Amino acid sequence: MGQGIIRGGIVAVLVALIIYAVFAMLPERPAFPQLVGPAGATPLPQPPVATDPALYSSGSSNSIAIVLKERDSSWLGLVHGFKSIGIPFQIVGSIDEAVQHHVVLVYPTLTGGNTAPQDLQKLAAHVRSGGTLIGFSVIGGGMPEVFGFGSSEEVPLRKLVKMQPSPLTAGLIDEAVAATIKLGAADEPQAGMPVTTYSDLKAPALALFEDGSAAITGNAYHSDQHNGYAYAFGLDLGHFILRAQDGRFTRVAATYVNDYQPQVDTFLRLLAAIYRQGEPDAVILSPTPHNREFTGLITHDIDFTRSMTNIPAYMEVETANHARATYFVQTKYVKDYSDDVFLTPANVPILKAIQAQQMEIASHTVSHSKEFSDMPPGNGQEQYPDYKPFVKDYSTVRDGTIMGELRVSKFLLEMLTPTKVVSFRPGHLSLPRSLPQMLVANGYRYSSSITANEALTHLPYRLMDDRGYGSEVDAWEFPVTIEDEEGRLGDRFDAAVALTEHIARYQGLVNILIHTDVLDHKLEFEQRYLELFGQRGWFSTLAAYGDWWSTRDSAVVAVAADAANSRRLKLTVTGTLDGLALQVQDGWHYQSGLDGTTQQDAHVVLGKFTDQTELLFAVDPR
Ligand SMILES: [Zn+2]
Repeated sequence: MGQGIIRGGIVAVLVALIIYAVFAMLPERPAFPQLVGPAGATPLPQPPVATDPALYSSGSSNSIAIVLKERDSSWLGLVHGFKSIGIPFQIVGSIDEAVQHHVVLVYPTLTGGNTAPQDLQKLAAHVRSGGTLIGFSVIGGGMPEVFGFGSSEEVPLRKLVKMQPSPLTAGLIDEAVAATIKLGAADEPQAGMPVTTYSDLKAPALALFEDGSAAITGNAYHSDQHNGYAYAFGLDLGHFILRAQDGRFTRVAATYVNDYQPQVDTFLRLLAAIYRQGEPDAVILSPTPHNREFTGLITHDIDFTRSMTNIPAYMEVETANHARATYFVQTKYVKDYSDDVFLTPANVPILKAIQAQQMEIASHTVSHSKEFSDMPPGNGQEQYPDYKPFVKDYSTVRDGTIMGELRVSKFLLEMLTPTKVVSFRPGHLSLPRSLPQMLVANGYRYSSSITANEALTHLPYRLMDDRGYGSEVDAWEFPVTIEDEEGRLGDRFDAAVALTEHIARYQGLVNILIHTDVLDHKLEFEQRYLELFGQRGWFSTLAAYGDWWSTRDSAVVAVAADAANSRRLKLTVTGTLDGLALQVQDGWHYQSGLDGTTQQDAHVVLGKFTDQTELLFAVDPR
């Protein structure tokens, strides 16, 4: 071994190191040198303005009349919950107006202190003459007698509501998980909700708290002419719903994902049953288009190099089964800890093919960082290619902002394909508090950013500013039902079928997240699922279902009785709606009004209409 060889080797290594260092210092050449943007700044969201209850003051006497005793309450939880399950409601200004409706709801409290004696008498008379009264936190004022309990008491904390057997809960309590609803994690002493408990009941309770006191009471008044009902709820349902939908309950559900956790839906289905019992002209709007049994969303996350190249195989299965899917694409143009760059010119044709197949391209952030929820908001001027979030390791990211992740990913996808990006999903479902208003600021409308088990619902719902309680935003959440990371997806087919059957009982949402990183068992799962449920479910992209859902969310139902044996149903929406299904009362027969409208049993499926339609029904004599 000569010394010269060793010296020559050292020199060669040094030269290589110098060349490497020089290249490393040169700015990385952007993958798309022709692109810079977006141009202009995105204004940061303004502090929210409380949503005005007057926005929800339209309707007719067949809707539930909501008497709002405190504006500074979680009333939007009831509003959004009723929209999700499809119960028509109307916020009214007075008890006099309310008792023109068969079903009256007083929220968030009904007490001798907040309601004048003559109004309390009108509510009592309403029930005795065949009306239905739903009260929350009912205390004093002679109301115990109407609701059929001896005493009520405010208590600081309860942890559990357990549904009891009754005709109204019949469809609910045969599902064990639907019947027992936690209000807080069992092992956290302070977790739970303040409630009102009811004791000395005249009739069996519909639900109990863990100490055996009543959580929901039911009292009936039967006479020759009338059947009246009064129900007292002991928990603030509006608050429960918003807190769940905001993702603010910790460990209330037994599972994080892949399971049936319908806590919010159980309460909503109970209220739908009370509404149908009390309102002879009850009409309920189905959550699923064309009266299919459930809505299916196949949503793919593209967050790995090979995920791109596998996309065509998934699209083939979807197209063959007449399903359309949503592809959440990470616009990965920075090489970092996570992975190599895969938003490259070579992959653009794959993205264009998604668009060409009528499927959806959506954003899955730039950096796919678990730290998204803790990123600073940014200034709304982030631009490609200068915006360079760098993932250092699993839990550290440098130079990322929430604005940048939303704004730059949308820009790139819209520049590289002829698409308008309206849907978003964060990496790792990392959920910033500000996400709802940040989505709106950046022109998104539809979010799939939380699991159904965390949100305690299998229905879509409207989002709240700052995941809070006072102000709604123009964006909707479609939670993830099934994912592919908790064990092998291919081994969980039967569990997915069982879960779908549960959700299909009330036409809810099954959102299946499949990463396209591998084909084999995942692709096979999708093929089997679509084969089994293709006809029973309504399979759509998130954007298409989101458009349908947000239009349905704007619906106002008004029913007028032209004569004892006929009803005129007027439906007003903002936009165009096709295939809205209505559940009507037995004895209603659709006559005329809208092309393409059909009826099967109590379900009427409407044809396509814009803004407004009027349907005529013949009604059997009662
Ligand atoms: Zn991902």
